[in-house]
Amino acid sequence: MLHISVDGLRPDAVTALGPGGAPNLYRLRVEGSRTDNARTDYDYTNTLPNHSCMLTGRGVLGPDGHGVDFNDDPDTTLAAVHGSYVAGVFDVVHDHGLGTALYAGKSKFAFFDRSWDAVNGAPDLAGVDDGRDKIDRYLYLYDTAALVDSAIAGLLAGDIHYLFLHLRDPDTAGHAAGWMSAGYLASVARVDSLVGLLLDAIEGDPALAGATSVILTSDHGGYGLGHSDPALPCDFTVPVYVWGAGAAPRIDLYHLNPVSRENPGLSRPDYAASPPPIRNGGTSNLALALLGLPPIPGSTINAAQDLVVGPLADAGMIAGWDEPVRLFPNPSEGRTTVSFSLGAGGPVDILLFDAAGRVVERMRYGYLGRGAHEIAVGGGDLCPGIYFYAVRAPAATSTGKLVLIR
Ligand SMILES: [Zn+2]
Repeated sequence: MLHISVDGLRPDAVTALGPGGAPNLYRLRVEGSRTDNARTDYDYTNTLPNHSCMLTGRGVLGPDGHGVDFNDDPDTTLAAVHGSYVAGVFDVVHDHGLGTALYAGKSKFAFFDRSWDAVNGAPDLAGVDDGRDKIDRYLYLYDTAALVDSAIAGLLAGDIHYLFLHLRDPDTAGHAAGWMSAGYLASVARVDSLVGLLLDAIEGDPALAGATSVILTSDHGGYGLGHSDPALPCDFTVPVYVWGAGAAPRIDLYHLNPVSRENPGLSRPDYAASPPPIRNGGTSNLALALLGLPPIPGSTINAAQDLVVGPLADAGMIAGWDEPVRLFPNPSEGRTTVSFSLGAGGPVDILLFDAAGRVVERMRYGYLGRGAHEIAVGGGDLCPGIYFYAVRAPAATSTGKLVLIR
């Protein structure tokens, strides 16, 4: 698992460069699932707060927030800032016996290495005791090309299963020349070529090819010479690309998650928004899901690990249903019946969408009682083909495939 954060990357910088100017980032977009409209933390759009979100799966403020509301290394630990230990993605990977690495282009990432080192890391309570040091390899290099070389060597060594790579250049260029300036776009193009080296290394190695997932996001965008206004769309809009093992090709993440996530448009939803937007802070719990590992203890963003990035299963069953949602007949020549059983009463929605992710039928049932239900979906006016359905109940969402024939 390669988890990349490109510091200060605006999603529209990639689309402005296009497939000619950013061929490798475009490869991630075309061969993987992605959104150009993910969100940062609600209150902060700075490097250290937002990387703390990414690495812990928490927001900044509030009792569950990690509390890192500053942007310089405080020379203390995350536990000291928060008032008690805060687990991160490295805890989960390490405690399950896998190798971890953090390679960063800014010296303040030493804050994370210190917070989770052999002295300050929590005891390993899962499986074999692998010790307290949650980050097996920490490297800070200002020279991004050298940093990427080291990351490639680390990946090829075979003992790192989760590598978080921070590429600083677009942020540096944005502060110097302005976001979306020629200098900024040139630095995004440079990062693109370095991402190409990483993809080449993964595909050239028999052990990594086909078995490695890449998640790419950013900590914040930027406008003018800065990025510290959390109410500004240019600052709070970030990309999330998911490529490789487990990722569906060529599909928008909001189309893949029509019920559990809501595209916020230009708005800035807070943490009470339901459904929530996709956030960069949820990418670590996504990484863990792709590694087959549980979420970060105490995390609140994508804590259910329910962000779908892969092809929809033929039949979905997610915890919360008394029995799997069934469709019959399926394939169907016309209407089909959705059968499910609710463990508790509540409002139920059923969405039917086509292979491109467009909603073709939306049914809202209001309150349904506990127990078994059967509901007819799919009218005679739909073209033959493959459709997907999503059934949303208060405690669970189930998705699956419906084939219409004539
Ligand atoms: Zn900055």
